[in-house]
Order: sequence, then C-alpha cells, then structure tokens
Amino acid sequence: MTPSPVRIARRYLLAVNVPFDAASIEKLRKDFLMLLKNVDRVSSYEDLTKLRTAARTWNDHYDGSVQNLLRGLSDTIWFVLTGEMKYNDFYADQHRGWVKHWDAKIRAGYWPLHTEFMSLPYEPLELWLDKWDGRFSAEEGKASILAKWERDKKKWSEKAKREARKAWAALDEYVTWVGQRREGTAPVQEMKEVYQQDVDGFSVTFVGMEGDHDYYRSAVEKFKVGIAHYRERAAKVFPLLLGPAKLPLQLRGDQGIDCGGKYEGRHIVICPLNAPPKEYAHVIAHEMGHHVYQVYLSGDAKEFWSAAIRQDYAEADLNEILAEWREGEWSMDVLKRLALTDPILALQIDGLSRTHDWGSREDAVTYLQKYGPKVHVPTTPITGYATKNTEEAFCEAIGRLVGYGSRAVHPLILHWLTIILPREVKIAKSTRQAFPVLSPP
Ligand SMILES: [Zn+2]
Repeated sequence: MTPSPVRIARRYLLAVNVPFDAASIEKLRKDFLMLLKNVDRVSSYEDLTKLRTAARTWNDHYDGSVQNLLRGLSDTIWFVLTGEMKYNDFYADQHRGWVKHWDAKIRAGYWPLHTEFMSLPYEPLELWLDKWDGRFSAEEGKASILAKWERDKKKWSEKAKREARKAWAALDEYVTWVGQRREGTAPVQEMKEVYQQDVDGFSVTFVGMEGDHDYYRSAVEKFKVGIAHYRERAAKVFPLLLGPAKLPLQLRGDQGIDCGGKYEGRHIVICPLNAPPKEYAHVIAHEMGHHVYQVYLSGDAKEFWSAAIRQDYAEADLNEILAEWREGEWSMDVLKRLALTDPILALQIDGLSRTHDWGSREDAVTYLQKYGPKVHVPTTPITGYATKNTEEAFCEAIGRLVGYGSRAVHPLILHWLTIILPREVKIAKSTRQAFPVLSPP
C-alpha cells in the first residue's frame, strides 16, 4: 500500500520534532541568570556548596541539551535540506558540509561556558582538610574556601556571562537557520496537487507545486521561462532535443528542493531550483541528454566519447592546486571565486571535491597527507559533476551548451560533440574559440 501524502507528511513532522528550539535556549538562559543572581548572596561555606551543586545541575542540563542537539544534528539537517527521511546521493555533499559547519559552530559556542562552570571556585571541605593533613580545623578550612571564592567570584561570574553570550548566539543562529530552511522544505505541506499543462509545446505535469508558498510560485515562473529558453536554444544548437529526444516533463515539489533532475525513461523529473531560468534549461537539457545517450547514440559514438573523455585526464600535483585554494575556503566558494579568472582550475577543484568528498581545503590537505600529491583531473573539464562518469560528462556538455551557450563549453569538447553527432549538433565556427567563460550558476 502506498502511504497517503498526509500520512507521509505527518511522519516527517514527527521526525523533525527536534527537541531544541528558541524556547529551549530561553529556558537555559533564564536558569543561568537565576543561578548567577546567587553569586553575591553566598555568605557561608554551606551557601557556597549549595550554589556549586546548583551550578553542576545546571551544567549537566546544559551539557545534556547540547549533546542531544549535536546527536540529532545530522538527521535534523537532512530533513531540513531534503524533507525526506530516505538517503539519496543528491544531497550527500551539501548535507555533509552543513553538518560539519553547524557541529563546529555549536561546539565552539558551547564548550567555553561548559568548562567555565566546571571551574567554579570551590573546594570540598574534606579534600581541603586532607590536603593540609589535619593541620587546620574544619572552621579554618571553610573560611579559607570561602575567602578564595570571595576573591575569585567576580572574575569567574563575569567570564561565565561573556561565554554564555557566545553560547546563546551560536545556538540562536542554528535555531534560526533550521526554522528558515524548514519553511522552504517541500514535503511539510500536507497535500500534493497534480495538474497538467502545455508549456511552449511541452507537456508538463506539475506535482506538489501548488499552495501559496512564494518559493513554488517563483519556481514555476522561472521554470516556464527556462523552458522557453531551452526551446529557443535547442532549436539553434541541438534540434534533436525538440524532435526524437523530446520527453514529457514533470516539475515536482515533492522531491525536496535543489535535487536537480532525474531521467526516468519515459519522462523527466525536474525539481524546483533556487536558480535562474537558464539553470532550468541546463537541467532539462542534461536529463534529455541521458535519453539521447541511452537511446539515440550508437555504440561507436559512445565508445569514441568515453575514450575521448578518459584520455583527457592527466596527473596533477595537489600541492599546486592547494596553492590557489585559500585557507578555510569551502569547495563551493573556491569554485565561485575562480569561475571567471581560472575556470579550468575551478572546475578541476570542483570535480576533485566531488570525487573525494572534500568539503573544504582542510579535507584536501588531509587527503594530501594520507595519499600524497598525485591526483587526476580532466585537462578540459566540462563541469565538476561531469567527472562522475562519461555519460554524465556527455549530459553536462549538452546541458551547458543548451543552457549557457557554446561559449560555456570548451572548444575541444564541442569538437568531440560534433564528431559523434555530426548532423545534430550545430555550432557556428565563429563561437568555437570563445572558451573559457563560465557562466556563474
Ligand atoms: Zn545525469
């Protein structure tokens, strides 16, 4: 039996029951302030012992809450990213990146306050007496412990307040982020609507794209502009896409956001993207590319293409790549930074990051220490994703050609395309040498 959308949505909502929100932070913060109010009320060793017990209890609660939050971090982020419980590759990199980011951020905020509370100026009387080996009375011991407290309490409580502000700030930022992301996550909506429409000569089925969320409305608009662009561009450079390789489309809001697209044999699934219309054209052309590759290309053509892509790989020195990669920079940021000045290197780094799961420069350095500097990169890369396999390389080449134009594809790649599809791919000679320009995503 297929579970109803409503039931699925309920299950999701239960799953997102993250035991941590803005109210949890407020509770921790209030208890913390209450506790600190007692700092100046301590007038005896007994008072101090009570305060220290209360501080320990609070600290245990604080520690437990944050540890619990960190344990659930991966699942929570998975949900807010995808709206799904089931794991799929689409999000692997992004998911890992976010988990790492928030884990580090929350820990950095949490730890100093936790340790500050552990070091409240106090000593149990028995320990103190033992330490002095019976040379002093209990009264003297209590007085000494209290004197030390009086001396250090201001410094201690002020430091605790400072560290607390940092801890709340990190937790606040995380909770806000989760809230914002969750609003944009598709399957939280209870019902999915299905309707069919003709868009620019394409049969499009819209699934779960209704409702009054702005995100969907603007996605549908961009998608429609993207189809018009796709149609216009395909007619010029690859008319096959409007003939034998034309499949019905589905725009699905129930598959999570930013999942790109899927070729499913008889139709193509496109997910709402947080990107301009040209990117829709890229994704549609990419998925249609799978259809061309699997149904239309001859065995010889595929063999040529695969051989061409494979022989293009060359050995590179990771040290040289790292020299261009800034300290602390994420792989997606290095791609953006180098896109216009050194697109080849940018795409090589993107490809390596995807292949080896490098979220940041640090991961690449760890790789270098473990496996040495030898890496293999395409000399004329198409996109980072294209390094996945030779079929994806073909689809990315078609995707960029149609979405962003022949200037966005290296002339050598264009040349190979015209070898395997001599009558189908049409590229003006004058634009063949224009690379390298990477259209920013
Ligand atoms: Zn693909």
